[in-house]
Amino acid sequence: MTDIKSLNRTELEAHLKAWGEPAYRAGQVLDWLYKRRAASWDAMTNLPKPLRAKLAESFSLRVLELVRKQGARDTTQKFLWRLGDGALIESVLIPANPALFGEASDRHTLCVSTQVGCAYGCKFCASGLDGWKRNLGPEEIVEQVLAVERWNANEQSRVESRESIAEAQSPRPSTLDSRLINNLVIMGMGEPLANYDNLLKALRLLNAPWGGGIGARKITISTSGLAPQIRKLALEPEQFRLALSLHGATDEVRARIMPVNRKHPLVELTGALEAYQRRKDQLITFEYILIAGVNDGLDQTRPLAALASRLNAKVNLIPYNTVEGLPWTRPTETVCEGFLAALENLGVTATLRREKGGDIDAACGQLRLKTERELKAS
Ligand code: SAH
Ligand code: SF4
Repeated sequence: MTDIKSLNRTELEAHLKAWGEPAYRAGQVLDWLYKRRAASWDAMTNLPKPLRAKLAESFSLRVLELVRKQGARDTTQKFLWRLGDGALIESVLIPANPALFGEASDRHTLCVSTQVGCAYGCKFCASGLDGWKRNLGPEEIVEQVLAVERWNANEQSRVESRESIAEAQSPRPSTLDSRLINNLVIMGMGEPLANYDNLLKALRLLNAPWGGGIGARKITISTSGLAPQIRKLALEPEQFRLALSLHGATDEVRARIMPVNRKHPLVELTGALEAYQRRKDQLITFEYILIAGVNDGLDQTRPLAALASRLNAKVNLIPYNTVEGLPWTRPTETVCEGFLAALENLGVTATLRREKGGDIDAACGQLRLKTERELKAS
C-alpha cells in the first residue's frame, strides 16, 4: 500500500479531487502530517470520519518505531528505528553549536539514512559491513525527521507536565508548530545517490513550504562519488549542497579503501563535480576521514590541495571513528593537526573535527550493526 508520506501536494490533491472532496482538504491533511506530525488517521480530528476511513483504506500512514536511543539531551543523540518490515536504520540528531554557526542552539541538524545497509563496501565503514538490503522509500526518509520531532515534542511535554504537576497548572504550550530540525545532512546509512529517485522525492517533500519547510541550501547530500548521478543532480533545479567523501587524494590511496573509485576514478569524479559547480552557486565540501597509516601521510596534502583549489572546495578533516571488528584506527592528534596545518599552508580552507572520543559521535551504521549482532546472538 502506498504511504501517504510518499505523496506530494499535487498527487494528494488529485486523489482528493477524484473522491469529490473540496480543494482545502489537501492542505488540512498536509498540515496534520508535516506541522502536527500526526501518527494516526484518528488524530486528524477536523477531517470528517468517512474521509478518514477512506484515507485509511487507500494509504498507509507508517511511523518509525524507536528501538534504541543513545546520547543525552543537548548533545548528539543517535536513534535506532525499526521499519515496517523489521529492518533497522539510524538517524543522528546534532544540536547546532552557536559558536560554530551563530544560530540559536534550539536548532538542530539531523543526519538521515537512505538505505538499509550499503552496497559500496568502503573498507572503513560499518554501514556496508553486512551488505545492502534495500532502498528506503521516500516516506521512510521523510519520517526520520518527523519521528525525531515527535519524540522531542513528547520529551518536552513530559518535562513540562512534571513542572506543571508542581504548579498544578495547565494547559502547556504546544511546541508542535515549530521545526526542531532546520538542517539536514544525508550522511546516514546508505549511498543516497544510489537511491536517487526516492531521495529526490523525499528531499522535495522536506523542502516544500507545505511540507518540511527546510531550505534546499540547508540540505547536504553526501556521496561516495557516483559520478553519473552527480551530473544528474547538477541538472535539478534545487540548490542542494553536495559533500564528497574523498578520503584519498590519489587513485591509489582512494581505491585501496573505496572500491567505488575503481568504477569512477578521480578524473571522472572531478569532471562531474565541475559540472555540479558550474550549475550551482555554492561550495562543494570534501569529507576526508583521517585513518592512521592509510591516508594521513603528508604526501596526500599536495594532491588534495590541488583538487580543492580546482573545485574551489573546502575540506572537512574527520579523525576516524573506530568500528568494532575493523582494523583501522585514528591518527594521533599531532598527526591530524599537522595534516591540517599542511593543507592550510597550501592555501586550502579546511577544518578539523576536534571533539574528543565520544563513541556516540561515530558515523551512522554502528548502532544498527551492534543491535543486529546482539539480536542474532540471543
Ligand atoms: N554513502 C555516503 C553517505 C553516508 S556515509 C558517503 O559515503 O558519503 C557519511 C560519511 O561518514 C562519509 O563521509 C563516510 O565516509 C563517513 N564515515 C563512514 N564510516 C566512518 C567512520 N568509521 N568514521 C568516520 N567517518 C566515517
Ligand atoms: Fe556506503 Fe558511504 Fe559507508 Fe561507503 S562510506 S560503505 S558509500 S555508507
